[in-house]
Amino acid sequence: MSLFDNTRVAFADKSNRDLRKAYWMFVMVKSPLLVKTGAVLLQIAIRLSLPIRWILKPTVFDHFCGGETLQDCIPSLESLSKRNVKAVLDYAAEGVETEKEFDEATERILATVELCRTREDVAFAVFKFTGIARFALLEKQSANEILTAEEQQELERAVNRADEICRKSMEAGISVMIDAEESWIQTAVDDIVERLMEKYNRERQVVFHTLQMYRVDRLYYLKNLFARAMEKGYFPAVKLVRGAYMEKERERAMEKDYASPIHLDKNATDDDFDKAVRFCLMHIDTIALCIGTHNENSCQEAIDFMHVHELDANHPNIHFSQLMGMSDHISNNLAIEGYNVCKYLPYGPLKLVMPYLIRRAEENTSVAGQTGRELELIKKELRRRNKEGL
Ligand SMILES: Cc1cc2nc3c(=O)[nH]c(=O)nc-3n(C[C@H](O)[C@H](O)[C@H](O)COP(=O)(O)OP(=O)(O)OC[C@H]3O[C@@H](n4cnc5c(N)ncnc54)[C@H](O)[C@@H]3O)c2cc1C
Repeated sequence: MSLFDNTRVAFADKSNRDLRKAYWMFVMVKSPLLVKTGAVLLQIAIRLSLPIRWILKPTVFDHFCGGETLQDCIPSLESLSKRNVKAVLDYAAEGVETEKEFDEATERILATVELCRTREDVAFAVFKFTGIARFALLEKQSANEILTAEEQQELERAVNRADEICRKSMEAGISVMIDAEESWIQTAVDDIVERLMEKYNRERQVVFHTLQMYRVDRLYYLKNLFARAMEKGYFPAVKLVRGAYMEKERERAMEKDYASPIHLDKNATDDDFDKAVRFCLMHIDTIALCIGTHNENSCQEAIDFMHVHELDANHPNIHFSQLMGMSDHISNNLAIEGYNVCKYLPYGPLKLVMPYLIRRAEENTSVAGQTGRELELIKKELRRRNKEGL
């Protein structure tokens, strides 16, 4: 039996009612057609300011998010902590565009840094560059176009926001992860994140970069990033993920007639992901690693590798991470075996976390995701409880 098959541990904190609710939620998002039409309808409903809260709040929102405010997240933090799982509080508001909104988001991220400093059950702070800077500006900078003087100042303000978050994280003794996004803004983000790592990771790994291993160039980038860090004398840190924007990436590449930056098939992505994990584990005294995945094989490979190389389960430089509402069978079973596990706990006003929720629903359709596995595990646990009269 695999470590991840233990449904008793996986769902220990879920009542039968919670499990049935999760079951129906996954059945709903399993249909690609329903998710595609639902996403379009929701966007229209938001534009027309139609009331959608009553349908979203008790279903997908409560399943995938900690709440609308930091305060709302406290019960989830406590519940995770009972299972030795820490949280990564993620202010997941997206689609913001104004300087005022970017300043507000920065304040919220700084509040999570503060919470992380004061609460043992919060492992990292996290942010997305598009939460603190305009998408089109990052796109222009990534394309190497000349910025106007005004845009230059705008970029400086964004960099200053990121710098403040990283500085406060360093002062608070915590680490901060910076998410990866679409490839056509990522070049600018890579550049800024590397400069932040160079500045703040002198003594320890404060700033974590994120690498999407569905990109054909990322394994090469990881090795070069590592070499640059060694040359410049700082400690690199990465969160490895497969990547959440595959369809969008392919569509844009096709539309604009350039080679898609995404691997041709899933096997190639899986292969690079596992190679990148192994590369980091080989250099784990220097590089800090967060393995962000719901893929059982990748987690199993990582723990086998750790075992062979006699790396402690709770090695301070190794974390496993999943998203709230997904793969509790991985998080809880790893945590009970003593591995460092943290769960991304997104929060924010319902309207602003919609893009995040749509991505989660899309990823859980039967084609791309692992809903089948989640459903099987929920069914198995309900059957077990039924048999044991629980
Ligand atoms: C803690 C955490 C943090 C995350 N942070 C980010 C982030 O900063 N940026 C980001 O983009 N995503 C992020 N993600 C989401 C992540 O990128 C994946 O979308 C998601 O986790 C699904 O991949 P998986 O590793 O769980 O495994 P699986 O479910 O095994 O793999 C699904 C993934 O494989 C890839 N894939 C699927 N089909 C193909 C194909 N035909 N060809 C090539 N590749 C394919 C895609 O990336 C797809 O999402 C995060 C996930 C976690 C758990």
